[in-house]
Amino acid sequence: MNYDSLLKKIEIYKNKYNVKVIGNSFFGRKIFAVERTISSAFPTAIFLCSIHAREHITTDLVCKMLDDGLFDDIDNFNLSFILMANPDGVELVFNGLNSVPKKFKKNIEKINKNSSKFEFWKANGRGVDLNNNFDANFGTNINSHYPAPSGYVGQFAESEPETRAIVKYTKGVNPFITISYHSKGEEIYYNFFQDKYQLVRDKKIAEYFAKSTGYIIKNPEKTSSGGFKDYCVQKLKIPALTIEVGSDNLKHPISEKYLDEIYAHHKTIASCLRYAYNVFKDFEEK
Ligand SMILES: [Zn+2]
Repeated sequence: MNYDSLLKKIEIYKNKYNVKVIGNSFFGRKIFAVERTISSAFPTAIFLCSIHAREHITTDLVCKMLDDGLFDDIDNFNLSFILMANPDGVELVFNGLNSVPKKFKKNIEKINKNSSKFEFWKANGRGVDLNNNFDANFGTNINSHYPAPSGYVGQFAESEPETRAIVKYTKGVNPFITISYHSKGEEIYYNFFQDKYQLVRDKKIAEYFAKSTGYIIKNPEKTSSGGFKDYCVQKLKIPALTIEVGSDNLKHPISEKYLDEIYAHHKTIASCLRYAYNVFKDFEEK
C-alpha cells in the first residue's frame, strides 16, 4: 500500500479509532498511530509496519487485520498501530524519483547510484536504514558507512526524524509488547541480550506466536543492532518481536496478490496478544 492509500484508510479509521500524528518523515510526510484505547490505565501493544520501505506489504497486512475486526473483542489492554513508519521510503519504492521533493532528488539519485530502480530500497529519504538507527548497541553492526538504499545506521542513534518520533511515542505509551512486521522469510526474532528472567518470558511468548503462525524462531542476537525490537528489549525491558512475513521465495517488494496467503498465518493474532499479555502480567506479579 502506498502513502495515498494509507491516507484514505486513515480517514476511515478516524470513525472508529483515535488517530494521532506522531511525527513527520524527513520529507515531511505524516507518521500516524491508530489507537484502540479501552482505558488509559491499561498497557498497550504497539504494532510497527513498513519501517523498511520495500516491506510495505506489512501495512496491508495490519490494515486487513483492522478491517476484519480481529482486535474487536480485546477488552483488557490497548492497541496502537504505527501503520507506515517510513512513508518516504515506501513512496520511493512505489513511485521512484517522482516521489522525491525537488531539492533532495540529486542526493537520492547519488545514493541509488543513478539507478531508476527502487524495488530493493529499505532506507528513509536520507538513505538511513531506520531499523539500524535506534539506541540499542547502535553502530556495532555497520553494513554501510554512508547513505545507502539499505544498511546505513546514520550519523548517531536517533539521528532520523522517523526514529525520534517512534521512540518518543513509544516511551509515552507504556507498551507491554511491540510487534514489528517485516518481510520476508516466515521467521520470528525475539532475542537481544536479555537477562535470563526476561529471556524466559520472551521465549515463551515468541514460541506461542511461532506455533500460532506456523513461522520458525530465529536467534540472531549476535547480528542485529539498532532495531526497534532491540531498543524495546534493551531499554524498555519488554518482550518485542520482529515477525518476517511472506515466503522467502517471493520477490521484494511482495505483491498485494500474496496478501491473503500471508494473512492466513496471522488470523490468530488476537489470541497471540492475549497470551502475551497474560505471560507479561504473570512475570510482573512474580
Ligand atoms: Zn525489514
